[in-house]
Amino acid sequence: MKRFAYLKSFRLRIFLIMFLTGFIATGIMRFGMTANTRNRAIRERSMEVTEQIRICANRMINYGYFHSAPSDIISAQLTQLSLVYEGRILVIDSAFKVISDTYDISLGKTMIGEEVMLCYRGETINNYDRDSRYIEVAVPVMEKDPETGENVILGMILASASTDSIRREADILTRQGFIIELVVLAALIGISALTATLSVRPFERVTKAMAGVVSFEEDIPVVSDYKETGEIVEAFEKLRQRLKVLDESRQEFVSNVSHELKTPIASIKVLADSLNMQEDAPLEMYREFMQDISAEVDRENEIISDLLELVRMEKGASGMHVENININELLEQIIKRLGPLARKSEVDLILESKRNVNADIDEVKMTQAITNIIENGIKYNKHPGWVRILLDADHQYMSISISDSGVGIPESEQAHIFERFYRGDKSHSKEISGTGLGLSITRRTILLHKGSIEVESKPGEGTTFLVKVPLSFIVGE
Ligand code: ADP
Repeated sequence: MKRFAYLKSFRLRIFLIMFLTGFIATGIMRFGMTANTRNRAIRERSMEVTEQIRICANRMINYGYFHSAPSDIISAQLTQLSLVYEGRILVIDSAFKVISDTYDISLGKTMIGEEVMLCYRGETINNYDRDSRYIEVAVPVMEKDPETGENVILGMILASASTDSIRREADILTRQGFIIELVVLAALIGISALTATLSVRPFERVTKAMAGVVSFEEDIPVVSDYKETGEIVEAFEKLRQRLKVLDESRQEFVSNVSHELKTPIASIKVLADSLNMQEDAPLEMYREFMQDISAEVDRENEIISDLLELVRMEKGASGMHVENININELLEQIIKRLGPLARKSEVDLILESKRNVNADIDEVKMTQAITNIIENGIKYNKHPGWVRILLDADHQYMSISISDSGVGIPESEQAHIFERFYRGDKSHSKEISGTGLGLSITRRTILLHKGSIEVESKPGEGTTFLVKVPLSFIVGE
């Protein structure tokens, strides 16, 4: 297939379009011109012959050709005409008998044919026979009867004239036309090639400029000549900006991850070192420090699990195991699992289902996503407090609203809570454990399900998260 790649060349296509258009146009012009000139010449010749024969017919009447013996003058004229027009002239009397023939073949014979009959009725006939390439003319010779005043047919002149001389001239014209056409075509090849090369040049410039861009920081150094190339550069520029943002967020992510992973290890190191340095450290101190070390190990574990979850999410929809799941049961299970934590924090978990809902979801991922939101509701709550989960659905979407009576999220923080590693106001984030990854995992899961998540909150009053997910899974990223 690669062998024919050049056929896809834009330059070749422009060249072909221009060349073929010119080629067809000159071809049509040449054909039209020669055919037109030839037809006009035949028409003119035919009118000329008819006119000459008519003059002859008038002379015949004047000379009384059909009444007396055939006149030599008329015969000489007929012979001359037949020579001039490379043809044959017959004279027929009213009894359809040939009385003169410039070929001397049909003298005395009777001639009856369609043309003769029409002519006998007084019509002048004028035909061009394409097969024999002869102009055929039939002219009646009529005289007015002095008594009745009616036209009386005395006879007819039938003439056939060759169009060979016209054809010869037309052939010369065709040959000349052909030579001119060749010259025009040669010029056309040159012009088409030049135009094709010039028209792809801006695209080549853009390609070269893009190939030269090696980092996200560089702008594309192009002054574009076409609107289209301008649009390509613009689209590329937008892509570059997006990639730049993505690259920056990746770098930030890596540095955040390193920092987050280092923090518990640093604490463990400090705790262990201080125990090592103190020679007669009491057992209580060992116990206390070991509990702290254990808590830091738990935290490290938590961060790593969340990170792994996040990395798994990055695989996109391909890593999804979608099944039709009963959402009422799924929510009951989550609440059962979170029961001990809620009781410990004196938070009531209330589940309200408006109807029975089944949806195509990845059970593990969705459980994790909803758990994260409810867990936050318990963590960032007053004690005692409540978290209310409301399940509803229409014919297309299921909606899960999770409200709490908690501390709320300030307006300025609301835009950031779904970002990776973002944790709210430092004052409470230190007291309440977390990695800042929970909501970003949740949001990613909801988006993989082609759903949406919104937050509404008033500091001091509480927060509501509204999750909407299509009941049927929509394939595609
Ligand atoms: P984490 O809970 O581990 O800190 P999340 O990504 O789950 O991380 O949440 C990000 C931040 O959003 C939290 O640190 C908290 O400040 C805020 N937040 C999330 N849910 C609630 C809630 N229900 N009430 C108040 N603040 C919340």
